Amino acid sequence: MSVNESLVHNCYHPATEPHIQLRENLRDEQILLLQKICPAGLFTPDSAGRVNVHFQGCLECGCCRLLAGSDALAGWQYPPSGAGLTLRFG
Ligand code: SF4
Repeated sequence: MSVNESLVHNCYHPATEPHIQLRENLRDEQILLLQKICPAGLFTPDSAGRVNVHFQGCLECGCCRLLAGSDALAGWQYPPSGAGLTLRFG
């Protein structure tokens, strides 16, 4: 089973507000790192060079927080109770 096939089985209850906030003016290497480490591929630069994080699909793994750190992320917390990811196995 591929990663994408596995992710399809998860259940998402998106919060109304993002639980991840990025800093302004990220450097190219920070953007590349975020794109590389996020297993769900949620960080995408737009045509203006800003980076969007599609928090609704977050797996709450914390990789971006641990590896990119506070230099790149202004905030990271789990989604509020009742929102976020529910893993389904099998
Ligand atoms: S917590 Fe994990 S899945 Fe969520 S944005 Fe960060 S790296 Fe991606």
